[in-house]
Amino acid sequence: MRANSSAIGLAMGMSSGSIRRLGVLGGTFDPLHNGHLVAARAALEKFDLDMVLFVPAGRPWQKASYTHHEDRYLMTVLGAVGDERFAVSRLELDRSGPTYTADTMETLREWYGPDAALFFILGADALSGLDTWVGIERLAELAEIIAVSRPGVEFPERPDGATWPPVHPLEIPGVDISATEVRERVKSGLPVDDHVPVGVLRYIREHRLYVTDKEAWGAESSPPGRGR
Ligand code: ATP
Ligand code: MG
Repeated sequence: MRANSSAIGLAMGMSSGSIRRLGVLGGTFDPLHNGHLVAARAALEKFDLDMVLFVPAGRPWQKASYTHHEDRYLMTVLGAVGDERFAVSRLELDRSGPTYTADTMETLREWYGPDAALFFILGADALSGLDTWVGIERLAELAEIIAVSRPGVEFPERPDGATWPPVHPLEIPGVDISATEVRERVKSGLPVDDHVPVGVLRYIREHRLYVTDKEAWGAESSPPGRGR
């Protein structure tokens, strides 16, 4: 599939030509929380990025069940709307079959051209799984990685012989929030006002997310495939 600009997430009037340094923050965003926003802002500032593109996963292969992708997409939009340097992409939601980060970065490389610098942003916890990612060698040719610190997580060493992309560790102000904690707090009736942006809070309330056991959208259900 050849992606068009709306799938890529060209928002806020930015044309592909004005992006020279792009950060990409992939995730399940179930839901987007303040930790994601702090990570994205720190990467923007320290690496002089023009934009951070949030890319919600269609079918997160690491998770047994997750909220419907349209809910996760909308919560990501609601959370990212507060910063004009943020945009959200449907790239992995509208693609059928498995989607890997390497494929996503390849599409973005085609869109932004050979001279754009592409950075994939992830948390220190996600870095330890890099060896299992499909197409990691291909990813190494397309992008560099910004690995942000996460409370309680050490930056793992690159294993000998691993073909990882260049990794830039970035210490950020620790935000001890995970989406798992947000879901558990909502389910227990605890407030999450300090955990998620207000738009996301309203969406969770209005759609009664996380209150009961989630429907499993994994396995054979409709959201498109995913596996880094
Ligand atoms: P879950 O608990 O469901 O796994 P999560 O909080 O880890 O959710 P994800 O959507 O899995 O959120 O994360 C997307 C990316 O953002 C990952 O690379 C993750 O490491 C990073 N990230 C998430 N929360 C933080 C945080 N508080 N500080 C730094 N990085 C974070
Ligand atoms: Mg996670």
